[in-house]
This record gives sequence, C-alpha cells and structure tokens, in this order.
Amino acid sequence: MTSAPRPLVAGNWKMNGTLAGAAELASGLAKLADAQSSSPCDILVCTPAHVLVPVFDLIRGTSISLGAQDCHVEASGAHTGDLSAEMLQDVGCSYVIVGHSERRTNHGETDSQVCEKAVAARRAGLIPVVCVGETEAQRDAGEALAIVGRQLADSLPDGTTASNTVVAYEPVWAIGTGRTPTSEEIADVHDAMRSQIGERFGADSEQLRLLYGGSVNPGNAQEIMSITNVDGGLVGGASLKAETFWPIVEAFG
Ligand code: PEP
Repeated sequence: MTSAPRPLVAGNWKMNGTLAGAAELASGLAKLADAQSSSPCDILVCTPAHVLVPVFDLIRGTSISLGAQDCHVEASGAHTGDLSAEMLQDVGCSYVIVGHSERRTNHGETDSQVCEKAVAARRAGLIPVVCVGETEAQRDAGEALAIVGRQLADSLPDGTTASNTVVAYEPVWAIGTGRTPTSEEIADVHDAMRSQIGERFGADSEQLRLLYGGSVNPGNAQEIMSITNVDGGLVGGASLKAETFWPIVEAFG
C-alpha cells in the first residue's frame, strides 16, 4: 500500500493587501515557520502580483513557498496587463493557481484555457494548482460528480504527474460563504477524482495532491483533513491572518 501524499496547505490571498499588510503577514508566517522543528506539510502563499517580490524576500529560506493566482499562456508578447509563467518563476514563484472559479466566472475562462495555462506553468517550471468545482445549482441538480469529472478531464494536460500538478476541488457555493459540503460529499468527489486521475495518468498519480477548498477555517480543518483522498487545503479568507492560517497548517500537518 502506498503512503498518502505529503499534505499541502495553500493560502489564496486573492486581491487583498497593501505592501505593508502583506509584509506583516508574510513576516508573521515566516517566524512561525522558522519556529517549527520540522515542517509537517508543504506550505504555500499565493499573493497578488504587486507583493510577490517583497513576500518572496520575507519567506525565502523558510518552508513556505510562493505562488501566483493566474498566468498567461504565452511566455512573453503583446498581452497588456498579463504576467507569464516565466515572469512568475523569475520573481520566486514555484506554484500558480489556474482555473480558480473567480477567474472562470469573472473572466470567462474555459477548461481548455485552464489546460493551456497548466501547460504554460509547467513549461516555466511552476506547479499549477488546477481548480475545479460545481456551482450550487449543479450540485442541487445532482450533477456535481459529472461537472467535476468533465472539468478535470478537460483542464488537466497530458503528462500530468504527482510532482508537476496539484488539483483543488472548490465547490463554487462554498467559497467565501462559510458553508462547506459534508465530509461524505467531499469524500465522494475526492474519491471520484482519484479514480479518474489514476485511470488516465497511472499509478504515479496516487501521490498527486488533491486539495479541498471552500470556507476552510481553524474550526473545520481537522475534520476535512481526516477525509480520505484530501491531501491538503486551498484557503482563502482564513489565509489573510497568521492567527487563522497557521492553525490550519497545523491541522493538516
Ligand atoms: C478560495 O477562493 O480559494 C477559497 C477557498 O476561499 P475561502 O476559503 O474564503 O472560501
């Protein structure tokens, strides 16, 4: 029997934070990470673009990695306002979130664009955190497994392995709402994702990290982390303060 993947707890700061606020949060997290004798799980902060460089300077040398929240599919060129995966890698990122539901909704990103972004991330040596998840209407219609299955099939590029990709299941209706699926509902989706990934990518993918995201907080992290095939969390609101993010890191560790 293979061992469970090493957990990953990722904070998604979204479009929040001033330079001063980000520096305070990053240095608080760096201190907590430094105080650990060993790191119980991989830790990641995905910051807004304007603070990537100062945050990297503050967490460099700790167990915390840096990630961005989106990337363009091209390496460079006439794409005003965009950042390429290569640029993100250049400023210290090792991960990038792709296909977050807020980008799918607010920017009309499709599964095939998400797939291209995952390819771009890999090209630059970044690990894409590929997000999938159903809306409330889709869940109510009993379509959650089918929707997530389709998103996964179309958003994950060929050549996906445990070391070059992370998947995050984030039910859209659970993001920022304080509502979460039941443990059984999370388990059903994660089990289905594990089987689907295994069928397509083979035995290596047993180690591919499947994160749960959507209203994770210090009060529910322990229960969520104990669900089979949940290998960590993608945390939004609760990642904006060290006091709420760190207990989640400890719960998953
Ligand atoms: C997210 O947007 O990735 C997220 C999980 O947000 P929250 O934890 O605030 O629900």
